[in-house]
Amino acid sequence: MTNIEMIREYGHEQVAYFNNEKAGLKAIIALHNTNLGPAVGGCRLWNYSSEEAALFDVLRLSRGMSHKNAAAGLPLGGAKGVILADPSQKTPQMFEAFGEAVNTFMGKYYTAEDVNTDTKDADYILRTTEYVVGREKVSGDPSPFTVIGVYDGIRAVAKFLNGSDSVEGMKIAVQGLGKVGMGLAETLAEAGAELIVCNNSNREAMKYAVEKLGAKEVGRDEIYGVECDIFAPCALGAVVNEKTIPQFKCRAIAGAANNVIYDDAAGEALKARGIVYAPDFIINGGGVINAGQEAFTTYDKEKVLEQVHNIYNTVYRMLEESKETGKPEGVIATEFAENRIRNGLDA
Ligand code: NAD
Repeated sequence: MTNIEMIREYGHEQVAYFNNEKAGLKAIIALHNTNLGPAVGGCRLWNYSSEEAALFDVLRLSRGMSHKNAAAGLPLGGAKGVILADPSQKTPQMFEAFGEAVNTFMGKYYTAEDVNTDTKDADYILRTTEYVVGREKVSGDPSPFTVIGVYDGIRAVAKFLNGSDSVEGMKIAVQGLGKVGMGLAETLAEAGAELIVCNNSNREAMKYAVEKLGAKEVGRDEIYGVECDIFAPCALGAVVNEKTIPQFKCRAIAGAANNVIYDDAAGEALKARGIVYAPDFIINGGGVINAGQEAFTTYDKEKVLEQVHNIYNTVYRMLEESKETGKPEGVIATEFAENRIRNGLDA
């Protein structure tokens, strides 16, 4: 498939390449869809193996942002930027040049932090463009809002499984104790859940979870086979795949990680095993609900929280529809988002 065929396949409105030798910037910005409003999506910095790999990633991620924003009920489209570089090559000039690239979209693209970019980099981007969301002094760190949304999504799963949305006494396995995973573990422990945790490298986090939250520690490959009610992936994508599906001894999967299901076949296989799945881009939308507000109105924390709590209803609705139709939850969620993109947020 040629690059232009790939762009057509994903249905993008515009894909732009940027090259600024002096600033050391090589970047691609992919604007997927602006039917619902200006497009929002972070700026990822990654040392891609090839330009094709970067294009593939930015196309996939920007379409994912269209789905996430529409499903969250935001009047926003989806986009993403990628900078092709190693984190060791980061300079203020690189991000200033990225800001100039953002300006060429004249307000149709708002950028934000993402993998390998942080608030300091966002400050450099802000030197040359105003089209940045998730600013430190406005909406701030999105992670606490992601935690709230994931917890609400887990309560919706509990309601679907048990008829009650209390997590008290439920066994929940949390993979990854980073910004979201640890916040989630703390919230779940406070609500009376029994925790099982694993983290690949952060010993301090593990010690805290075991000693302060009463969690049971397991190895990083053991977590998939742990007997539990809910497996909450909060580290990596693609953890539901042909290797892990036979190992799962959980009743449901609900966590913060993006692109949890490896591919359509994995979604079908999970459904066939009777394991309930809370679609990733719906349950983890709290962060973008918080940051995205900056792109279309004055930031208002109360309104943000109201919208984040609505994740409970959306997740529950997806699970019910999946049960009625027999389609995997991820497919239901994608159809829901695409319908809104075509027909508006009330669809
Ligand atoms: P983070 O980098 O703070 O935490 C991830 C943690 O997972 C790290 O502590 C890392 O050591 C651990 N980890 C990595 N590989 C692991 C493995 N194989 N087994 C166990 N632990 C492993 O990231 P975060 O911000 O907490 O985000 C977690 C996930 O949620 C990511 O997939 C991210 O894309 C997604 N997400 C985050 C947000 C947000 O607001 N931060 C929003 C939406 C989605």
